[in-house]
Amino acid sequence: MPPFPRHLIDGYRTFASQRLPTEQSRYRELSERGQSPEVMVIGCCDSRVSPEVIFDAGPGELFVVRNIANLVPVYQPDENAHGVSAALEFAVNVLRIKHIVVLGHAQCGGIRAFIDKIEPLSPGDFIGKWMAMFVKPGEKVEQRSHETMQQFVERIEKAAVFRSLENLMTFPFVRGAVERGELNLHGAYFGVAEGSLFVLDQAAKEFRSAKEANSE
Ligand SMILES: [Zn+2]
Repeated sequence: MPPFPRHLIDGYRTFASQRLPTEQSRYRELSERGQSPEVMVIGCCDSRVSPEVIFDAGPGELFVVRNIANLVPVYQPDENAHGVSAALEFAVNVLRIKHIVVLGHAQCGGIRAFIDKIEPLSPGDFIGKWMAMFVKPGEKVEQRSHETMQQFVERIEKAAVFRSLENLMTFPFVRGAVERGELNLHGAYFGVAEGSLFVLDQAAKEFRSAKEANSE
C-alpha cells in the first residue's frame, strides 16, 4: 500500500491540536444528538471553492453536495441512481433544511469544458453527459457578439446557478416545502481571485456583492 499522504497527516495533527480542542464539545454533542444543519449548499468539486471555508462554517452547520459545475438535475424518478437527488431527498424530508444555496464560481472547469466542447476524457464521457443536462432541448449556448470570452464564460457560470435553482423546483418535495414557506432557495457566485462572494437578488435576477447584500 502506498503511504497515506504526509501533508494530510500533518494537516490532521494541526486540526487535532488546534481546532479540535475548541470544537470537541460541539462534535460530541453532534454525535449524541445527530446533525441538524439549517443550510444545504450545492457547490462545485473545485478545490478552490470549499463552502465551509467561504462561509466560515463549523461542524454540523452545512449539509454539502459538490459535483462538477454545481448542477442540480431535473427530477427523474426512474430506475437509475441519482446522487444529488438522494442528498436533496434526505436534506428536505429528514433534516428539514431551511435554506438551499446553489454556489457557482469563476473559472469553473466544468463550464469551460462544456463551452469548449472538449473531447471525452474517457470512453464513458461522464463529464460530457453530466454537463449535457445543463442545456434544455432546443436551447443554444453561444457567445454573443458583444461579449468577450471571459464575459461569456461568466454568464454561463451564472446561468448554471439559475438552471440549478430552476431544476430544484422540479422536485415535488422541494416545491412543496418552498410553497409552504418552509424552505428558501438561494443562488451565489464566488470570485476565486478576489475571494469575493456575490449573492443572487432573485427579483432582479442579478448577483450583488455580499458586502452590500441584504440578509435576514
Ligand atoms: Zn466548478
